[in-house]
Amino acid sequence: MSHVFHRHLQHTYPVAVRGDGAYIIDQQGKRYLDASGGAAVSCLGHSDAAVIAAVQQQVSQLAYAHTSFFTTEPMEQLADFLIERAPAGMESVYFVSGGSEAVEAALKLARQYFVEIGQPQRRHLIARRQSYHGNTLGALATGGNAWRRQQFEPILMNVSHVSPCYAYREQQPGESEGDFVARLVRELEDEILRLGADQVMAFVAEPVVGATLGAVTALPGYFQGIREVCDRYGVLLILDEVMCGMGRTGSLFAAEQEGISADLITIAKGLGAGYQPIGATLVSKQIYQAIASGSGFFQHGHTYIGHATACATALAVQHQIEQRNLLPQVRQLGNSLMARLRQRFAEHPFIGDIRGRGLFQGLEIVQDRSSKAAFDPSLKVNARLKKAAMANGLMCYPMGGTVDGRTGDHILLAPPFILQDSQLDELVDKLALACDQVFA
Ligand code: PMP
Repeated sequence: MSHVFHRHLQHTYPVAVRGDGAYIIDQQGKRYLDASGGAAVSCLGHSDAAVIAAVQQQVSQLAYAHTSFFTTEPMEQLADFLIERAPAGMESVYFVSGGSEAVEAALKLARQYFVEIGQPQRRHLIARRQSYHGNTLGALATGGNAWRRQQFEPILMNVSHVSPCYAYREQQPGESEGDFVARLVRELEDEILRLGADQVMAFVAEPVVGATLGAVTALPGYFQGIREVCDRYGVLLILDEVMCGMGRTGSLFAAEQEGISADLITIAKGLGAGYQPIGATLVSKQIYQAIASGSGFFQHGHTYIGHATACATALAVQHQIEQRNLLPQVRQLGNSLMARLRQRFAEHPFIGDIRGRGLFQGLEIVQDRSSKAAFDPSLKVNARLKKAAMANGLMCYPMGGTVDGRTGDHILLAPPFILQDSQLDELVDKLALACDQVFA
């Protein structure tokens, strides 16, 4: 009997002992193709020699130095690397240990910014329904997923939720893409006006929605419209790129492909590729300068911010991606994966939609393709799929079946950027087998 408090208290997980490229190997020697990067984390697979050497080098030189006393070379270099490549207007980077912490820091930076500039009444946050931004209380309060929130209500903050740009379910029959986008942008504007334009602090969204919807990309013009509305009312735009950022969709930042910038951008997961826990919040010049010329102190902090080993690791990961020119490969492998998924699943009776960008793709599971009706959550289709896939030696990330009645089950795929062409076939074959077993 294990004494580890696993999230699923009654679990039968295999014991992972080793990594080999895109595979994880368990105690019995069974190999699992990592088609989800864990949770969109392991973008370089599990045995990258250059990254491992960088971790070892930094640990032996200086593992950790508290930021109340020191800055470190890896932290400074990683911040420079990110800002040189970030969307326009970004000035500085606040390092944390993961995605939820990055979102918490973004929320508090937004709040402190308005206090510093004499608009402390701007407290209200707007996010989107069915969103996930982390599990700490502030990040959980931001997310619009009823199932995740319900047992922790009432949670902390003033948050309201508008519709996600989720064409498969939210676009009305007969409504053009342009009209749908305009309706969503208007919905945000109406919500800002309903709350009082001078009361709203920020709008938070994932450029490509990962865990809760399964790689849902926004329609063209959506984020530009959102940016314009935020600018019109002085509302900050926080882009959560924890899952979709750091090359996952084929550009370093997903926002690049939307043609917009943001006031705050959160990143994690692929930043350290799982070799070390790390996240970061990118801060715009405007916010940075308001705090720098105001109190000069961000009222926030954790013991491990700017962890030297984590920063050196992330720098090595990002250098690998750049030096090996992996982003074009993400786009090209992504196209091949999409083509193979469409070939195999386009006519599948229980797959309603196949979508995504780069190596960030999702399949939506329905019990009826024409009505788009989802399976009853009690059937736990996603859990059964995950189990069947694991039995076949495949890690994929099925989610959904939430009780808010709108989200169906889906499978998220986020494999390492180093995948071989033959492994794409293995991925699709094993996924198809798992579907056959569950839907038999
Ligand atoms: N934001 C998004 C978009 C995420 O997908 C996640 C994690 N799935 C988080 C925040 C939270 O990140 P972490 O689990 O590292 O705290």
